[in-house]
Amino acid sequence: MTYDELKKLDSEYYMKTFGTRLPAVFTGGSGAVLTDAEGKEYIDFLAGIAVNCLGYSDEGFQAVLKGQVDSGVIHTCNYFYNEPQARLAQLLCEKTGMDRVFFGNSGAEANECALKLAKKYAYSKGKDSDRFVALKKSFHGRTLFTLSATGQEKFHEPFRPTAYDFTYIDANDMEAAKSAVTADKCGVIVEVIQGESGVLPLREEFVSLIRALCTEADVPLIIDEVQTGMGRTGRLLAQEHYGVKADITTLAKALGNGVPIGACLASGPVVDAFGPGDHGSTFGGNPLACAAGLYVTERIDDRMLSHIENMGAYFREQLEFLMAKYPEFIVGVRGKGLLLGAELSGKADAHAVQDELLKKGFVIGTAGGNTLRFAPPYIIMQKQIGLLIETLDRLFQ
Ligand SMILES: *Cc1c(COP(=O)(O)O)cnc(C)c1O
Repeated sequence: MTYDELKKLDSEYYMKTFGTRLPAVFTGGSGAVLTDAEGKEYIDFLAGIAVNCLGYSDEGFQAVLKGQVDSGVIHTCNYFYNEPQARLAQLLCEKTGMDRVFFGNSGAEANECALKLAKKYAYSKGKDSDRFVALKKSFHGRTLFTLSATGQEKFHEPFRPTAYDFTYIDANDMEAAKSAVTADKCGVIVEVIQGESGVLPLREEFVSLIRALCTEADVPLIIDEVQTGMGRTGRLLAQEHYGVKADITTLAKALGNGVPIGACLASGPVVDAFGPGDHGSTFGGNPLACAAGLYVTERIDDRMLSHIENMGAYFREQLEFLMAKYPEFIVGVRGKGLLLGAELSGKADAHAVQDELLKKGFVIGTAGGNTLRFAPPYIIMQKQIGLLIETLDRLFQ
């Protein structure tokens, strides 16, 4: 099918949620390089929005998927035990220090589970409340509950009434945190680096304060690591950089390297709030998704994490070099590990830069606030980062 035929089919039959998409169709890939039907190559700095952490055609990953497919069983449902699910649950808990996990199929579902768990914990303590605290500029997903947790007015407007009663506070506003995080709340949900809104890291004092306030009020702290988790920032969880541990934390994007899976992990008393019948999923935690997750989790070892850290440091340095050279265009470089954002001034448009780079064979993302977002596969090489920087350099000249 040609690009134009595909575009026409999509415009006729797909809901209009994604509008006109970017002009490339990827049909193959190897390492951090994608190819289209004409054989044009693109170095990938988006990884399907921080998902394809092992890149493309990873031999071990493909062998695991093929093995599961060849077993003849992709899905069994949660009436039954399955080994990949139990093993992934154990490995994730061991690596994160959490006690228990629930698997869903996406980031939104992982957060939905987290919020429900917090609500059930409040209920089990006899707390008559539907109040939560979230941050402005957050993003937690597209289901009604997670949309409500998302502190961005534009997402709420057409869908009112939103679910539950969320108080949205500004990130890093210590006073607002002190007045909002009180014992009448069911939970507090934050991303330690706000990905969708422009790769905005929270300040350490703020995260420590939120942690302390939640502990004091016995309100579960939910850290949404759907984008930042599974090694993206150079640690398995981004909260490790802050020296805090959530009561509930969520994973999704990189966990399955493209096979849909989300995880909600919890520790401490909140874990026991769910009993039989409180939550569930038909597909969640199926053998295929968990085999994928298990392989990815095993691959994110110290060696991989230090590669992410090194490549991230080099990448950031190079972006800062560009910012120093073109202060009229680049006004901020933020992020950790291989989740980086470069904020542009009003003189450049992030989407136009994205389009231009795509033509030149680079896939990048954008985020809120006119920001270029970079979230390459973890296996990205210094040379590939260098090529992107050279191309950006020429673009801004
Ligand atoms: C992507 C994302 C989500 C939503 O994940 P889906 O898989 O699209 O439902 C939730 N939280 C954060 C921080 C994300 O980046």
